[in-house]
Amino acid sequence: MIELKDKATIGIIGGSGVYDPKILTNVKEIKIYTPYGQPSDNIILGELEGKKVAFLPRHGRGHKIPPHKINYRANIWALKELGVKWVISVSAVGSLRLDYKPGDFVIPDQFIDMTKGREYTFFDGPVVAHVSMADPFCNHLRRIIIESARDLGITTHPSGTYICIEGPRFSTRAESKVWKEVFKADIIGMTLVPEVNLACEAQMCYTTIAMVTDYDVFADIPVTAEEVTKVMSENTEKARKLLYEVIKRLPEKPNDGECSCCNSLKTALV
Ligand SMILES: [Zn+2]
Repeated sequence: MIELKDKATIGIIGGSGVYDPKILTNVKEIKIYTPYGQPSDNIILGELEGKKVAFLPRHGRGHKIPPHKINYRANIWALKELGVKWVISVSAVGSLRLDYKPGDFVIPDQFIDMTKGREYTFFDGPVVAHVSMADPFCNHLRRIIIESARDLGITTHPSGTYICIEGPRFSTRAESKVWKEVFKADIIGMTLVPEVNLACEAQMCYTTIAMVTDYDVFADIPVTAEEVTKVMSENTEKARKLLYEVIKRLPEKPNDGECSCCNSLKTALV
């Protein structure tokens, strides 16, 4: 049973490199059980500027769970259970275009799903629902993140198409060229789907901060592990600053005109 004091309106799902938000005060950890099993880790509850925030490391602390084994349904269910309305996801991605450089942030506005075998829905029957995914991310949350990043001087691209692959392997050269030239995707990662679908089904406002770590193989630019590690640790630092700023600016509720996330089930139930 979750007590009232353990509720939170803002949820952060931390990706590779972001295992601890380090920006919260009055921190406590809670374990949550869901009908789908346990989330990736205990949830860290804390406060920032008087706002209640729940943090969950997507891969578990110590990065023990690979993208295709993450219990996405338990993760989203647990945040919903805590009362979360805003979900800010942080993820590391590869870039499919030369002008989205390592170290840049991208706030995608579209995605393409190339995953192969995940649990995609809370609606496995007898209740059937088909949620709209035409605009998969919350535009209100996207705007606040883009404005905050700009004010902090973080190089951020305000749109982009994220292609989500199954993993855990990276793409072949042939695949990378297809994603770039045929699908016109801009960034590539392994964790967006089904996190975004499930957040939508749960009627939560969801957006991802995609942090570019390197170019995908199409570019044929050899990178060393040291270079990637350096970019990742700089990205983690920038992500912390950005999360701090975004949380400070987040209002209690989304604007009707900019966000339809919380009504996503109105036209979806069959
Ligand atoms: Zn929204």
